[in-house]
Amino acid sequence: AIEIRGLSKKYGENIVLDKVNLTINKGDVVAIIGPSGTGKSTLLRSINLLEKPEEGSVIINNREISLTTKSSKEKLELRRYTEMVFQQFNLFKNRTALENVMEGLVVVKNLKKNEARELAIKHLQKVGMGDRLFHYPRHLSGGQQQRVAIARALAMDPRLLLMDEPTSALDPELVSEVLTTIRNAAKEGNTILLVTHEMNFVKNVANRILFLENGRIVADGTPKEIFDNPKNERLKEFLVKIH
Ligand code: ATP
Ligand code: MG
Repeated sequence: AIEIRGLSKKYGENIVLDKVNLTINKGDVVAIIGPSGTGKSTLLRSINLLEKPEEGSVIINNREISLTTKSSKEKLELRRYTEMVFQQFNLFKNRTALENVMEGLVVVKNLKKNEARELAIKHLQKVGMGDRLFHYPRHLSGGQQQRVAIARALAMDPRLLLMDEPTSALDPELVSEVLTTIRNAAKEGNTILLVTHEMNFVKNVANRILFLENGRIVADGTPKEIFDNPKNERLKEFLVKIH
């Protein structure tokens, strides 16, 4: 299991995350839902140290790493265990699909070039991009770029895959191919923490849903508990608004 303990983040006086505690079991697909500005992105970004929290730690791979650590070795370790997929794909524009996936394998994991290439091809094939290895991002659709980004993250074999609205930047007709890719990653046993507004996907693929409001997890349950029998008043209001 991966444990997040006492995660707090402020911007000036604005408390964005308020001592968040969260345990994610291996193989869990956990979806975070909640109103805009409630801290969903900040939560993912803090786990990956893209933000600098005031307090908190993560237990991952049986080690507790402080989110305020100054040790670059520990920072690197935490970043290695987690991988992030962004709304805007964030591929290297001047590299092919294959080179994008190989990059981390060579630079971070120190794999030999031919090993990295083999592994990268395997992961690109899994996301249905085996016939686009030498394409540059500008010659790929948004959905294809996002599938490359997912292949790149999964190739690193993260303990936890973080995804922040991975389909929000896509044209509607491209959403389902990316959701299918995520569903396959879930089926393969990857542990995933994602923020999404795709409620059908959440209902069908996530095994657990967190409702975040004002930097706190105010509801935490199975899709059935959250959608069919919401207990929290704020959650009820939120669900009415999005339907
Ligand atoms: P959305 O659904 O719109 O993506 P969110 O739940 O992801 O929202 P966050 O992006 O985590 O929300 O932002 C949480 C709060 O932190 C917001 O009030 C936002 O204005 C504030 N915030 C985020 N980033 C910064 C920053 N760099 N500087 C100051 N305030 C910030
Ligand atoms: Mg966000």
